[in-house]
Amino acid sequence: MSDAAEPVVRATADPAAAALDVAPERSIDSAPDSGPGGSPDGSIDSALDIAPDSSIGGAPGGAIESSIDCALDVAIVGAGSTGLALALALGAGRDPQRRVRIFERAPKLDALGAGLTLWSNALHVLRRLGVEDELVARANPLVRGETRRIDGRVLVGFDFAPLARELDAPCIALQRAVLQDELARKLPPGVLELGRELVEVREDAAGVELRFANGSTTRASVVIGADGVRSAVRAALGGEQPGHSGYVAYRAIVEAPNELVPPGLAFEAWGPAKRFGALRVDRERLYWFATLNAAEHSTDERRAETLLEHFGAWHAPIRELVLRTPRAAILRHPVIELARPARLVRGRIALAGDAAHAMTPNLGQGACVGLEDAWVLGRAIARFGPTPQALERYASVRRARIDRVARDSRRAGRWGQIEAPFLRALRDAAMASLARPLLTRLVRTTVAAGIASLDALD
Ligand SMILES: Cc1cc2nc3c(=O)[nH]c(=O)nc-3n(C[C@H](O)[C@H](O)[C@H](O)COP(=O)(O)OP(=O)(O)OC[C@H]3O[C@@H](n4cnc5c(N)ncnc54)[C@H](O)[C@@H]3O)c2cc1C
Repeated sequence: MSDAAEPVVRATADPAAAALDVAPERSIDSAPDSGPGGSPDGSIDSALDIAPDSSIGGAPGGAIESSIDCALDVAIVGAGSTGLALALALGAGRDPQRRVRIFERAPKLDALGAGLTLWSNALHVLRRLGVEDELVARANPLVRGETRRIDGRVLVGFDFAPLARELDAPCIALQRAVLQDELARKLPPGVLELGRELVEVREDAAGVELRFANGSTTRASVVIGADGVRSAVRAALGGEQPGHSGYVAYRAIVEAPNELVPPGLAFEAWGPAKRFGALRVDRERLYWFATLNAAEHSTDERRAETLLEHFGAWHAPIRELVLRTPRAAILRHPVIELARPARLVRGRIALAGDAAHAMTPNLGQGACVGLEDAWVLGRAIARFGPTPQALERYASVRRARIDRVARDSRRAGRWGQIEAPFLRALRDAAMASLARPLLTRLVRTTVAAGIASLDALD
């Protein structure tokens, strides 16, 4: 379908409203549908052909229902990887009639942060968004994963290459800030509004009103909460607060030579209720992480010492990695999660990414599934307009996928954090004998299902 088939927006110029950032009154003329739209190649350009579907509320003859108050007016709350990817999936800034804005509370995008593994499912989304090559160039492709005993003996190994070949996309490790940076770079000026903390979101008959901490307000046809694990949008929908997993994560990025952790290797050593892992994120730097059982609001002013007490006698190069990390670079956060993924949509408001399904990091899939959400939600809105029906379609095709990954991730975390010596011995024996095929199957199924889910609306 061509752009001519989109509803036309007439905005009443209102300087007072502009000063307050209140969207001016909009009216709509619906143009008739020129025929079935198609986006067979799955690319952004074709995905952006809005194809009003009479089966979900399109008026007879293909005209868009009158409740759609502009061609595409989407407010995204949060500029993490989910929010940024969604804006790109919606073609933000490519067409003035496609108004997409991201409201981010931070005054600037974070240059710090830790590392991240992105599996082939995420790479398929990034390819469709046109950022795969840039990201791969700034990342470390993974070749081999190893779960180890504390003395370094391998409990179970995993080769990434066959998976990457089969699923036609690599698995990479990179700095979280690099992902955010590459996504944000692709956005034209004016889409991302920094220093805008959402405090209230209210739906009325004409759309949704957003209110920010600085007192400003704006309106949109639909609002997407991509505002992370402590989402204000989820709270406005009456969603649950996240709970503590029982453990905290220490993380750092540190410059280190290849001899310490070779490129391509990701290892994770499992001890009694604690784990330590490391992998390179680029040529110069690597990312390490450790987990310890601890209360959510506990603090630790002696992070390096704590880590050395717990992990200093584990296999090389764990001690050296901690010792060469500047103390100020060691992050420590409780690992929190939603006990069950939230309700994804109510009316004109939807959730995506961690706001919808913050999960424990044990499968390394949180950001990957958020990117999947972004693509599918972008498709739904592009095809069905910024309408409640589009959001419902998104929710209906994402529900099972999200529930499944969150559940498997929680189970993997329980397995990894086992404390009792007897259970740990059983676990390690099982890992050494049975786990490889099971692990390979779990990973393959999780990643492949994510790729397949991208075309759920086609
Ligand atoms: C220890 C650990 C390791 C992990 N490892 C991996 C991994 O290897 N692979 C993987 O795929 N995932 C991993 N994850 C999960 C991954 O980090 C998250 O799933 C992902 O970052 C979520 O992205 P998001 O954009 O949905 O949310 P976020 O990245 O949290 O972004 C939310 C944004 O919303 C903004 N915001 C919040 N509230 C407001 C407000 N009221 N108004 C405006 N803006 C607001 C925030 O400032 C932020 O920029 C890990 C998580 C943890 C904790």
